Amino acid sequence: MTQPNANELRAMHSRFAPTLLRADLSGLSTGDRKALDHCVKAARIVNELYFRQVYSGNPGLRKQLANPNTELEHAQHDYFHLRKGPWCPLDLTPFIAGVPEKQPEGANLYPEDLTKEEFEAWIGTLSAEEQAAARGFFTVIRRGKGRKLKVVPYSQEYAGLLRKAARHLRRASVAADDLTLRAFTASRADALLSNSYSDSDVAWLGLNGAVEIAFGPYETYEDTLFGYKALFEAYVTVVNATESANLQLYAVHLQGLENNLPIDERFRCPNLAGSSPMKVVDLVYASGEAMSGIMTAAFNLPNDEAVRETHGTKQVLLKNVQRAKFDLVLTPIARRILPDRLQHYTSFEAFFTHILWHELFHGLGPHNITVNGNATTVRLSLTTDHSAFEEAKADICGLWGMRRMIDEGVLPGALLKPMYVTYLASAFRSMRFGIEEAHGKGQALQFNYLVEKGAFKIGGGMVDLDFDLLQQAVSDLCGEIMTIQANGNAAAARAMLEKYGTITPAMQEVLDRLSDVPVDIAPTFEHYQ
Ligand code: ZN
Repeated sequence: MTQPNANELRAMHSRFAPTLLRADLSGLSTGDRKALDHCVKAARIVNELYFRQVYSGNPGLRKQLANPNTELEHAQHDYFHLRKGPWCPLDLTPFIAGVPEKQPEGANLYPEDLTKEEFEAWIGTLSAEEQAAARGFFTVIRRGKGRKLKVVPYSQEYAGLLRKAARHLRRASVAADDLTLRAFTASRADALLSNSYSDSDVAWLGLNGAVEIAFGPYETYEDTLFGYKALFEAYVTVVNATESANLQLYAVHLQGLENNLPIDERFRCPNLAGSSPMKVVDLVYASGEAMSGIMTAAFNLPNDEAVRETHGTKQVLLKNVQRAKFDLVLTPIARRILPDRLQHYTSFEAFFTHILWHELFHGLGPHNITVNGNATTVRLSLTTDHSAFEEAKADICGLWGMRRMIDEGVLPGALLKPMYVTYLASAFRSMRFGIEEAHGKGQALQFNYLVEKGAFKIGGGMVDLDFDLLQQAVSDLCGEIMTIQANGNAAAARAMLEKYGTITPAMQEVLDRLSDVPVDIAPTFEHYQ
């Protein structure tokens, strides 16, 4: 396999539009401003943690590329550091010679030669408690004496780096004026060392000041072997208080939406855990998985089902990130692929609001389920298909929820058409991330399903929609996805992803017309290099 030359690599790099993300720090108290500095110091260490988690060969490659001389070496160096590894999620092959064709399925979280069969056979020999540890978010699987598999907690595997990060978080805790920031940074520092994250997840839900920080091992997307292991990332942000208060108004409607989900009544949750806090923030600094591929525009945490069940979740929307994506990526896409009569419906408000409802709907629908009389979770039942399926659910049910909110007068009626049009253009924005990735695959599933129902149309490199057919088609898809989740039906999830989660020739024709539009943004930060 030949690797890209310097020009090709620069072209690949340019798919990520450079952008300076600004954030207003003038409202922070002196103590919180100092705490922010310490949080960023801790967050820098997360880059190194993620770098090691994702590929065992990364430290060696970094050394190899440390002193670039030729054009090619410079291009490789820059792209390697942008992507934090020798692969880009947009491409099927590596951009540096001498590495595996694909990122190992288990990243550097399992032995690279481990097969699913060997893992499952080994799991069968363990006690229930050991099995939970082996499948846990915060452990790696390594080989010990005689190649025997063993479970190693993150606190041990990454002990040196975690101690350093914990020290910075403790300094942030001492400096902060905001008591909730003090509490979270102190308890997360403890968690890094104890490997027990639940208490600090609860403290994170309670963050209520001007600084909002997510810090730790969170998402499992990179573990494509099983989807068990969480990768480190950090988001250091400042809160937009006015916008956050506005969003909080939506919380009172969530139970009503859950009660009306288009699924069998027994699958609905009669009492959602508390109301979900929502924060609109501007990103000040990000690291680890957050800065490794497609930029996250919003997130809903924590992922620990036990904490979610008792304490609920929190949505964080990164407004300056979303604005940059809308201006630099979505707007040029809409101009290229939508018919003239739909152009003026593309709107940032619709884009922003749908991301919000996407996040809200991660908290709704089936999570803790019963399969064959046993209590389990959707995540564990659907294993590696869970991420793509859950992202599709959040997207399409978010749209379903917005429609209901418009009908009930909570959202303005003027949002109706912009909501569908912006969602359509944004579908092609997401699918350009590749359908190997959870969001892209989930988006392809939705698009093809809606085309089958006649609600979306595609041809000649353009897309269109039928406003009248969309409401029912969206509701049907919501129901199908959530029913499969409620039943923990892994075979049905797989079948649906295989049927719809693909790029058809007509879709490829549209994607080809977008080849010179940036795929995503590559941010730098106003206050921290
Ligand atoms: Zn999501």
